[in-house]
Amino acid sequence: TSREEQTALEANEWVVKLYHNLLRNTKEGKSGYEYLLSRGLTEETIDTFKLGFAPNSRDFTVKFLDGKGYKPQDLLHTGLFSTDKEGNPQDRFRGRVIFPIRNHLGKTVGFGGRTLGDGQEPKYLNSAESDLFQKGRMLFNFDLARSEIRKTGQVVVFEGYNDVIAAYQAGVRNGVATLGTSLTETQARLLKRYAEQVVICYDGDKAGFEASYRALQILKKTGNHVRIAMLRDGLDPDDYIREHGAEKFKRSIIDAGLTATSFMMQYLKQDFNLSVEGDRLQYVEKVLDEIAQIESSVEREHYLRELSHAMDLSLETLASDLEPRLRKRA
Ligand code: ATP
Ligand code: MN
Ligand code: MN
Ligand code: MN
Repeated sequence: TSREEQTALEANEWVVKLYHNLLRNTKEGKSGYEYLLSRGLTEETIDTFKLGFAPNSRDFTVKFLDGKGYKPQDLLHTGLFSTDKEGNPQDRFRGRVIFPIRNHLGKTVGFGGRTLGDGQEPKYLNSAESDLFQKGRMLFNFDLARSEIRKTGQVVVFEGYNDVIAAYQAGVRNGVATLGTSLTETQARLLKRYAEQVVICYDGDKAGFEASYRALQILKKTGNHVRIAMLRDGLDPDDYIREHGAEKFKRSIIDAGLTATSFMMQYLKQDFNLSVEGDRLQYVEKVLDEIAQIESSVEREHYLRELSHAMDLSLETLASDLEPRLRKRA
């Protein structure tokens, strides 16, 4: 870390404390605090994640850091400031609930901020990319989740920090999130170093379904074992936990995650109208391509049987169609 980055890290620690204290103990931060409570977070959770509030001011944070002897010009790495037309630094986060974003060493390298209502845009704002804060190379909550990930051999990947936090409060402590971008190969390799199994648990909407597919392709490349925990009805993990509780989330969603092949059998259905003969055959061909990638012959037979039931085709026919694919693979 360069000296500049070191300074930025120190300043960030001050600002984490500042925003957290504002949220917990002051009138200015009350709206933020009540917002988080209204979302079902407990005081303990708010403290664990050191959630905070940035007041709706042009230069509150600029002045605070100035008082600590830091000049904004030296703090461009913090991502806490933007510049106005005259080039003067001003607070980037205003009137937002703040989520400190720490790297794997527990150092705060950036911040996320959410509006209190649903009207304002953008709903979420993150620190700008810098050498210190590279969204595609890190995962939210990896520092807190790391020991649980090692212990269980499993990591759960969510879309948003709210999902990680809600899951953590519900007792799922091996959760991480990407920071508003899709999963990268760098992140997948990081996960592979710590966990045997990756559970993708994205939002139960079309975007989440598509993102699950993309994440699966990345994780296949890096050789991770993947399950896909799917939600329905447009609910995201945070919504689901609030609606159905922690136990049901663990039992019916996380533990019931689909294997990669089962997920693909569902995913591929979108492209075909299975009541049309020609489409049915094309779908079967696609699924056989997936099944051919499975190492274990016992598992392959399992999915062949499933496909045979679902499509009303004989196991023998499917097995002989699979044969050339297996030869090509070898
Ligand atoms: P909430 O429950 O607070 O409404 P969410 O976490 O369910 O939010 P989504 O809209 O599902 O939000 O988005 C998932 C994640 O994507 C967010 O947690 C955030 O990290 C990121 N994100 C969403 N919108 C933006 C945005 N406008 N800019 C940057 N990141 C965003
Ligand atoms: Mn979403
Ligand atoms: Mn969501
Ligand atoms: Mn949500």
